Amino acid sequence: MDLERDSLQLLAGGLDVLEAGFAGLPALPAGASGLPAMEAALTAAAERMRDNFPYFHPLYAGQMLKPPHPVARAAYAMAMWVNPNNHALDGGRASSAMEREAVAEIAAMFGWQTHLGHLTSGGTMANLEALWVAGRLQPGMVTVASKQAHYTHERISGVLQQPFEAIPSDALGRMDVAALERRLDAGEVGCVVATLGTTGFGAVDPLPAILKLRERYGFRVHADCAYGGYFTLVGNLESSARGAYDALTEVDSIVIDPHKHGLQPYGCGCVLFRDPATGRIYKHDSPYTYFSSAELHLGEISLECSRAGASAVALWSTQRLLPLVPGGEFAAGLEAGRRAALALAAELSGDRRFALVLQPELDIVVWGVRSGSASASSELAQRVFDSAAKRDLHLALIRVPVEAVPAFGAEFVRDRAEVVCLRSVLMKPEHETWIPEILARLRAACDETLSGIAKRDDLAQR
Ligand SMILES: *Cc1c(COP(=O)(O)O)cnc(C)c1O
Repeated sequence: MDLERDSLQLLAGGLDVLEAGFAGLPALPAGASGLPAMEAALTAAAERMRDNFPYFHPLYAGQMLKPPHPVARAAYAMAMWVNPNNHALDGGRASSAMEREAVAEIAAMFGWQTHLGHLTSGGTMANLEALWVAGRLQPGMVTVASKQAHYTHERISGVLQQPFEAIPSDALGRMDVAALERRLDAGEVGCVVATLGTTGFGAVDPLPAILKLRERYGFRVHADCAYGGYFTLVGNLESSARGAYDALTEVDSIVIDPHKHGLQPYGCGCVLFRDPATGRIYKHDSPYTYFSSAELHLGEISLECSRAGASAVALWSTQRLLPLVPGGEFAAGLEAGRRAALALAAELSGDRRFALVLQPELDIVVWGVRSGSASASSELAQRVFDSAAKRDLHLALIRVPVEAVPAFGAEFVRDRAEVVCLRSVLMKPEHETWIPEILARLRAACDETLSGIAKRDDLAQR
């Protein structure tokens, strides 16, 4: 296994071009390089970094983790020689412009020709801004999101001291629209968070039905697409998910994480508002900054102050290489991950040892290990997870409400409210060709676990 290194040459070339832009400055005296000491520090760091799961390898098929695109890595590193701060144009003139261009391209991907938006340190901060704006516009009103929505919505609402309630989700992990309607009838709902791609299951909330309810009840709709947003570009969704993505143009705000499916280094989130006039809510005055021009400084429309301009440079370069268009190379990468998820789900459904929790809507697969009870099945899942890791296959675990897994069958003893299941986010395009290898290792891990348990039970009976 080799780590990609060709981009190091690109980085050297990029630095040549950057340096030429500052050729008019007087040379700096050459100081002591300190290279040997730096080398020792870096070597020590590299040794420490070996204690990581191999996120860059297709056998890492667990959480939502993957390395950035080489061009993003090189662009981010190149920007480090300047280290721009996109809070103000004084701190990052070029990178602020690049941020605005890159963010406009993301907005256009959702069908918005005008918008207000910017990058953030991640999805949590982006959602915080969206819920903060919702709270400012409708003080005292309740924000609701489904039980399967990201846990941070409730916590963010607590930080903002805005009321929050969870709406039950259905057997497919989507917001239960009938339950939402009942809650709306009770009144006081100011904002509905629709998740397009839940973090656990990759379930897509029924946005068209939610928007229909908005006609009657008049709430704001915020779409949390931190994980799933880029799937709007793909051509292989089922019709219900497709319908939700097509309705995104109608929502009030969107959050998407370029550091998840957008091939970016952490931290790169993005918040978008459909109404450009939302900027008035951010209005503040800083005595220190905003002197270099009368133009908009990104810090005037964001809650965070200092932010990495390098994130914008990396995103801008990536979108230049891989434009956000349906049918493009970037979209093809997501389509491959989705095919991988469908292929894995099909194999698991046909295997008596496993119970598929739900048909994947995006690229996440969740399945249980069959057994007599929720507690026994949970133990098996944990053991299969450990045994797979010993085979270099890295999966994830998730606790699923027992009623959400009819696949376990009528006989299944529901001795716990939740059952631990296995979970795999197949977000690397290479996962598609690695499914047979992933399955072989998973089955071997499962067989080893089952025979170990059988032996243990056998001994216990004697
Ligand atoms: C990951 C995620 C978040 C949180 O984003 P961070 O970038 O981890 O802060 C919020 N919502 C959803 C749906 C997510 O998948």
